[in-house]
Amino acid sequence: PDWERRVSKSARLHSEPGLIVLVTGAAGFVGTHVSVALKRRGDGVLGLDNFNHYYDPQLKRARQKLLEKAGVFVVEGDINDSALLRKLFDVVPFTHVMHLAAQAGVRYAMKNSSSYVNSNIAGFVNLLEVCKSTDPQPAFVWASSSSVYGLNSKVPFSEKDRTDQPASLYAATKKAGEEIAHTYNHIYGLSITGLRFFTVYGPWGRPDMAYFFFTKDILKGKPIPIFEASDHGSVARDFTYIDDIVKGCLAALDTAKKSTGSGGKKKGPAQFRIFNLGNTSPVPVAELVSILEKLLKVKAKRKVLPMPRNGDVKFTHANISLAHKELGYRPTTDLETGLRKFVRWYLNFYPGSKKSGG
Ligand code: NAD
Repeated sequence: PDWERRVSKSARLHSEPGLIVLVTGAAGFVGTHVSVALKRRGDGVLGLDNFNHYYDPQLKRARQKLLEKAGVFVVEGDINDSALLRKLFDVVPFTHVMHLAAQAGVRYAMKNSSSYVNSNIAGFVNLLEVCKSTDPQPAFVWASSSSVYGLNSKVPFSEKDRTDQPASLYAATKKAGEEIAHTYNHIYGLSITGLRFFTVYGPWGRPDMAYFFFTKDILKGKPIPIFEASDHGSVARDFTYIDDIVKGCLAALDTAKKSTGSGGKKKGPAQFRIFNLGNTSPVPVAELVSILEKLLKVKAKRKVLPMPRNGDVKFTHANISLAHKELGYRPTTDLETGLRKFVRWYLNFYPGSKKSGG
């Protein structure tokens, strides 16, 4: 296949002094930024993505162009395809896997449950199977989610807090992933790091996320739903800027210890870590809308509604002291600064959206 020719010709992937990383979900929002950052600092990167149509496939193709410009090749394929994965691991001596491919989104799960099970459980196990039987095993770093804290009412969330009340199927599959990962660590000596991202936003972001479609709808003059929780409290998110998340991902890869297993046989205790990657500064959704109005210079039409029971939780807030201590993680971008960069990207990527009102 085409990728095999491209990959074997890419001698750099084999002779890198740095890491050699398989990034799954490379054409996704976080995957694109992480892949480019790794490549820029001299690591070997190969992407894998199935380019599914969960949201605008043209946006994924545009990200792919950006990746190609940066020298990152993305193999088009699915994490459920064991033969493809084995082939990739045969051809490239990956030292690390950055697993970002998943069915994301909380609300979509209400009508598309199988997509979550296929990618976040079956595909996840499939990828772990291939990693555990590769010799030497790659260190495995992957995206869990703040959603695992579910209906936990204790804030800020810290890694030791309860995660036994998921509010959505998405959250449940991420929580299941953490437990599945633990067994691969325990039985096969795979080195595992799970990163619980908190509402990531920024340029090249996901159109299904509020900050993105609010921008589109404000420009179109469409009403913006602002949900109010049943206790009349405001709904807030610990919005975390993409560059801060990327730094956390790179630090997790750099501090990942080698696996202790090889070819599926365990040799000793291996590293198992879970970190919150958030911003420690939750912002009410109403304030998000005010910042967007200011940056877009367009007044939003607000529509306050009771919060539906659709899998969303009321509040997220990360305690990041563990990531700070172990990874040196320290987010530096406040919401207005980050949204300014997002809005600049948006108006450039969708030219005419301001003039024509959408
Ligand atoms: P995204 O949807 O933009 O990226 C995921 C990519 O994975 C997509 O390009 C998709 O085509 C690909 N993919 C999905 N299923 C696949 C499969 N079976 N095989 C191969 N490729 C597949 O999402 P994102 O925002 O970049 O999220 C990256 C990761 O971070 C996901 O695991 C997500 O659950 C997690 N996460 C994201 C956020 C956030 O706010 N963005 C928050 C918490 C957790």
